[in-house]
Amino acid sequence: SPQSASLHVAVLPSPGMGHIIPLLNLASRLAADHGCHVSFLNITAEATAAQNQLLGSHDLPPTLHVIDIPPADVSTQLAEDTPAFTRLCHIAEDNLVSLKSVLLDLGKPNAVIIDIFCTQAFEVCEELSIPVYTFFTASAALFAFSLYLPIMDREIDGEFVDLPEPVRVPGCSPIRTEDLILQVTNRKMDEYKWYLHHSSRLPKAAGIFLNTWEDFEPVTVKAIRENPFYHQIPTPPIYPIGPLTKETEPISESGAKCLEWLDNQPPESVLFVALGSGGMLTTAQLAEVAWGLALSGQRFVWVVRAPSDEDPTASFFSVGGDVNDAKTFLPEGFVERTKEVGHLVPSWAPQAAVLRHRSTGGFWSHCGWNSTLESMSHGVPMIAWPLYAEQRMNATVLAEEVGVAVKPAVDPGRGIVPREEIKRVVRLVIEGKEGKAMRQKARGLKESAAKALNGGGGSSFDSLSRVVKEWKGTVKA
Ligand code: UDP
Repeated sequence: SPQSASLHVAVLPSPGMGHIIPLLNLASRLAADHGCHVSFLNITAEATAAQNQLLGSHDLPPTLHVIDIPPADVSTQLAEDTPAFTRLCHIAEDNLVSLKSVLLDLGKPNAVIIDIFCTQAFEVCEELSIPVYTFFTASAALFAFSLYLPIMDREIDGEFVDLPEPVRVPGCSPIRTEDLILQVTNRKMDEYKWYLHHSSRLPKAAGIFLNTWEDFEPVTVKAIRENPFYHQIPTPPIYPIGPLTKETEPISESGAKCLEWLDNQPPESVLFVALGSGGMLTTAQLAEVAWGLALSGQRFVWVVRAPSDEDPTASFFSVGGDVNDAKTFLPEGFVERTKEVGHLVPSWAPQAAVLRHRSTGGFWSHCGWNSTLESMSHGVPMIAWPLYAEQRMNATVLAEEVGVAVKPAVDPGRGIVPREEIKRVVRLVIEGKEGKAMRQKARGLKESAAKALNGGGGSSFDSLSRVVKEWKGTVKA
């Protein structure tokens, strides 16, 4: 209705597809289901082809507008080998100097929803008297850890990874030190300082949206609500509103070919291999993965990228586009040998559509949170292959607590997963009885996710509705 359309919300993601995708989904829901006028602020500096394709799509609801933030005049010069996370924080910092004027030009939205790594918005919005909400794009478990991190930083000397015991955030499952998020494994690094900086500002938000749902992480959600350390760190109200992931997307030529190939395969027979927007393998590991897939004899779709021996996140700022000739870096003979059962996709696949496809039977994933949610939303069991950020934590929970994933074992001598082990887990997921049990659990989660998002009383839908109602109460008609 025209009256409710007067509620104007700005949504500000950090750079990187793992942030843009869930925030765009939230923005679309606010526009399409909750009668909001939404401005989606797009940091254009260092935008990837995948980002441009998604945000240039014509499928967005009519009351959602993508507002480009022009690249900053001056930007920090970073060394080539700066880790993706530090780069992301610098891009946000440099390019949000214009945030105040952007918000003023938009006529001061009624609320701003930010990604956790855009916390400079707090001061700007305070000046403009606009309430700020944070959308935390990872698990509730990581949220609890991040909220608690400033206490650990104060009370613990030395490195967290050297602690003799797992880290215990009050009320939550213990986190093994080897599963800690990469950004906190070396407290002297810039990455740690950035992570701590943004985490310590979480309590400034008027509310926190979590990309999870009540029945997926019930213990953690309860722990955060009851927050036993609130006298040290107060928690803003939390709203589990997920799983918000990609539903539709523009399909590229290579994406269309991939879906067509899937159309011709038997139900639940194909393993989808994709490592998120940034994930890469080392040269040695890539060869083992290739031969492991070949030896398994199973069908697969593989989003294959050139290997990187230095940085497992090397493609984070370059994904998308179809420039990637797999023949130049895959082991000789592999393409020939697997041409009946395998389909290779360069750089970027329409992941949501692949996971939804009836031929897809398993997902070999780096366990990024969006990939995890997408896999669960479609009832697909996983091979957990964590690479960076908080993925080891996700992998452990999925394999050991939820029971929807298998973790391949690393050969400690070589530091990689050998082909025989890869063959084993691929067969296990696609045709083994463990795979069947995992698929059963994943299907249960698919149902519970759909229920949470349902407009007729779903917990996630209602959570978001409640906030929108509060906002509407503040808008003068
Ligand atoms: N994605 C995709 N095609 C690809 C790789 C990734 O569509 O080939 C999407 C995927 O569906 C997910 C997002 O990119 O929505 C990746 O987010 P995630 O949190 O899993 O990992 P990140 O890229 O942030 O590490």
